[in-house]
Amino acid sequence: MQDPNCVFCRIIAGEIPAAKIAEDEYGLAFLDIAPFEKGHTLVIPKYHAALLEDLPVEWLRNFSPLMQTVGRRLRETLPCDGYNVMLNNGKSASQEVPHIHFHIVPRYEGRELEWKGGSYESDEEMLLLAKKLYLE
Ligand code: AMP
Repeated sequence: MQDPNCVFCRIIAGEIPAAKIAEDEYGLAFLDIAPFEKGHTLVIPKYHAALLEDLPVEWLRNFSPLMQTVGRRLRETLPCDGYNVMLNNGKSASQEVPHIHFHIVPRYEGRELEWKGGSYESDEEMLLLAKKLYLE
């Protein structure tokens, strides 16, 4: 199920470019354009649902392993020491894009996180990182 007005559905459909790092039948993972840390990734189901509880449970079951795959990939390839997995569920919880997306944010021992969006030096830097992280 897709919504033609949803930016993340349009990324799934290939209408808007994204720095993809992994994809399967049920989900897509791509770099956040305003990363808390470089490698900050969004993992989304290929089903348009705004809130966690709107997602049919079989979709949750089928798409969530992609988070595990991406987390492992970030840890091994960046490499980072750990990562936060975060879902902003609802406007009051700071959700801006109404299509479920789990943030996977790389973390490093002894480094504080400001929890605010930064940027890559250039589109090229972001695309090169996505290429490095890309999983067939
Ligand atoms: P949230 O506040 O949880 O809804 O977060 C939305 C996230 O989506 C933000 O971190 C944005 O930087 C990110 N974002 C919005 N549009 C795009 C896009 N076209 N490609 C990648 N990330 C995006």
